[in-house]
Amino acid sequence: MSEPTAMTIVCDDCGTTQPELSTRTRCTCGGLLLVRHVPAVTGDALRRRFDDACCARPSRTASGVWRFGEIVQPLAMADAVSHPEGNTPVMHRAALAAWAGIDGLVVKHEGYNPTGSFKDRGMTVAVTQARRLGARAVACASTGNTSASLASYAAQAGIPALVFVPEGQVAMGKLAQSLAYGARTLMVRGDFDDCLRLVQEAGDALGIYLVNSINPFRLEGQKTIVLELLRQFDWDPPDWICLPAGNLGNTAAFGKALEEAHAWGLISRLPRLAAIQASGAAPFAAAFSRGFDTLVPVQAETLATAIRIGAPASYRRAVRAITATNGVVLHVEDRDILEAKARIDAAGIGCEPASAAAVAGARALRASGVIQPTDRVAAILTGHVLKDPGIVERMHGAGGLIEAPNRPVTIDPTLEAISAVIDG
Ligand SMILES: *Cc1c(COP(=O)(O)O)cnc(C)c1O
Repeated sequence: MSEPTAMTIVCDDCGTTQPELSTRTRCTCGGLLLVRHVPAVTGDALRRRFDDACCARPSRTASGVWRFGEIVQPLAMADAVSHPEGNTPVMHRAALAAWAGIDGLVVKHEGYNPTGSFKDRGMTVAVTQARRLGARAVACASTGNTSASLASYAAQAGIPALVFVPEGQVAMGKLAQSLAYGARTLMVRGDFDDCLRLVQEAGDALGIYLVNSINPFRLEGQKTIVLELLRQFDWDPPDWICLPAGNLGNTAAFGKALEEAHAWGLISRLPRLAAIQASGAAPFAAAFSRGFDTLVPVQAETLATAIRIGAPASYRRAVRAITATNGVVLHVEDRDILEAKARIDAAGIGCEPASAAAVAGARALRASGVIQPTDRVAAILTGHVLKDPGIVERMHGAGGLIEAPNRPVTIDPTLEAISAVIDG
């Protein structure tokens, strides 16, 4: 396309240059190394290059949510409570694609959002709305990520936040965020489903604005995961979009986004949605296998705490999403989720357990012949690897949770000890 820019690595102290591929991090003189660029063009021409290369051109805003504001919340675009958020990457890793048996598998990593999960996309809109409403407080029930996100956005908006989480069932990173950002954190003796019931009662009785995924503005924001993905595919949609499914707000949002995009001529063909649940928390998958006759709530149990939900609130909207896109719903065992997570992590990408269900599900659908080997598949990684450090410790410790754990090695502080490790 154009000539490459020149780059050199030089010593700060003596000016000696280093080869680009040197493993050195210091010069022989002891000085620190510095990367120096000489761009082929400068000024306007360089700016134009950046514009042309950019994944997403923020004409109005840097947010990957508010960029789509006119089909998200057109009245709030000028005064959004925005971090900003969105603009998450789509990645292809050959090893991961090979493991799933789908060459065209990519992941879109929503863990790159400001608080580490896709919940930020909905929360920016919901908290913006809370401020527009003059709400005296905002509240949510959460398995952890919604509360982390609410805590952050409410702090920015200056609105007190109340979060209801199930005691002892929230991953460490998520709880830490909620506390750090200053939300009043209520540890409920019960599960997520109890929290959701309680927060709805409190909202009604105390006039607190609820920002659970049943809040319509949450879904509007979460639609932008799909809009951004379609744009990243140059509006030529993949064959499949796979996502983990718990309370089903996201499944509903994805369906809405696709139906709208199709109706408004943004795309000419609908991708199929695949909603993946954990086997121990799979009332949606069970209903799907019975032709969506009715939802039978379950007592949820899974290591993937973000989808540990037995009575999903957005069931009906999610049924519509699956039906409208000729989609499927399936469930995968926790051991398959952790095996998928181990592969995603080992590819250098990383995600929290619930997210890995998307890839485990894609692999299962390929194995059963529902997904074809040549299909283009986008799996949504919903949360960051650091959300749940506890499970990583268990996977790679003595627990035997995955096939090939990466055990830490304790050594004496000697070169011999290091050599012994390298020689295996
Ligand atoms: C919230 C969440 C989900 C599930 O989304 P629902 O809208 O509840 O179906 C999946 N993964 C992660 C990381 C989440 O935070």
